[in-house]
Amino acid sequence: MIGGKVTDKTSLHYVHIDEKRCVGCVLCMKACPTKAIRVRGLKVAKIVGTCVDCGECIRVCPHGAVKATTTRDDYKAPAANMVISASPVLYSQFGQDVLPEDIQAALQKTFEYVFDQTYFLDLYNVALEIFIKETSGKEDSSRPLISPVCPVVNRLIAYRFPALLKNLSPILTPRELAARELKRRIEKDDLLKKTDYGVYHITPCSAKMISINNPMFLKTSYLDGAIGINDVFESVKRNLPGPDETSPVSPSNSLAIGWGISGGEIAAMGEGNYMAVSGLPETIRYLEKIEMGLFRDIEYFEFRACLEGCIGGPLTVADRYEAKRTVMNISRMFSHDKRIRYAQAERAYRKGWFFSEKRPQQPEEAGKRSGIIHEIERQEKIAKIMEGLPGKECGFCGSPGCRSFAEDVADGRAMLEECIRMRIR
Ligand code: SF4
Ligand code: SF4
Repeated sequence: MIGGKVTDKTSLHYVHIDEKRCVGCVLCMKACPTKAIRVRGLKVAKIVGTCVDCGECIRVCPHGAVKATTTRDDYKAPAANMVISASPVLYSQFGQDVLPEDIQAALQKTFEYVFDQTYFLDLYNVALEIFIKETSGKEDSSRPLISPVCPVVNRLIAYRFPALLKNLSPILTPRELAARELKRRIEKDDLLKKTDYGVYHITPCSAKMISINNPMFLKTSYLDGAIGINDVFESVKRNLPGPDETSPVSPSNSLAIGWGISGGEIAAMGEGNYMAVSGLPETIRYLEKIEMGLFRDIEYFEFRACLEGCIGGPLTVADRYEAKRTVMNISRMFSHDKRIRYAQAERAYRKGWFFSEKRPQQPEEAGKRSGIIHEIERQEKIAKIMEGLPGKECGFCGSPGCRSFAEDVADGRAMLEECIRMRIR
């Protein structure tokens, strides 16, 4: 389980390096897309820079030293009732012979209360379509709009592209819409006491916990915790129906099942000038272009930090391309039809039911660094340090490259003498 009801809400990161397991091999340092990791003196890796909780270091560490904040066994013996709402990515993890209804049935044997998210994915798409249509072409509309669904992308924008925070769509994510509605229904029907349960999201994503404990669009998240798909995989697999058993037909549809693959969110909307990009390096490249004023003709960007979309999330079990094949084959068995009452959804939209409570802000610690005068001085200092460096990009200093090393020296995190090549020149 990543996080839970009782997690440290002041923590800014949910990906951690276990110093006892780390052997200083530098693989994570080389892989980190935001150059946040350092391995000084070839000892242990430390996260010192802007970590966006993308989980790339979890994927590449061969020693299992990097983890998302975890209390893995909690979900087996919860202190409180657990209401489960699973990401559709879970449907991609067991191969094409296992259908969503089988997985729902297995979840119901594993947890007490289980809900399918399809209805809320469909509602979200309806609200988004209305919002795009109504704000299109308006003077004050921020285009392109950016999907708020991937918490890594949201954090990346907040830290590195704060000018684009205004482009993040104000429609609440399906997982928050679902959790809010589940809580309302449970309390209305007196099913459980408010203090006795929590709504948990089964997720492929190492960053989900930070979006729950430090939400960017709400004062408090409606979710109480997140459980990694890798943590529930074995128990769900054990509880899958046998070959002769049948499960109640899933309320899902092909569009909802496809949400986990790159392009799934925009495919579930009607026709429009939308674009999907996946993978952190590509996402950064496109955000840079948007910041430069390009792509104004695109109405909506779906960015996913993980390559191929959330099916490539660090807390998944199946290979991302196998998972994609499974999604494509399974979704063919389902219809495209959304079971939504459009007029009802539109009324809820007019009442503001879909909208976020607050606009996302640049984190304080990022703001502090980015005062213009300070930043100009810093950049001058970095350029000066760079002039003296050999530019071999060897990483022996414990920084991922010469530029990062120069930044570390400028920020007081490293000393020039730590560059071995400079010493032996
Ligand atoms: S989670 Fe991503 S950004 Fe954070 S240290 Fe690991 S690789 Fe870098
Ligand atoms: S693409 Fe999906 S799994 Fe990956 S970081 Fe974003 S939300 Fe999480």
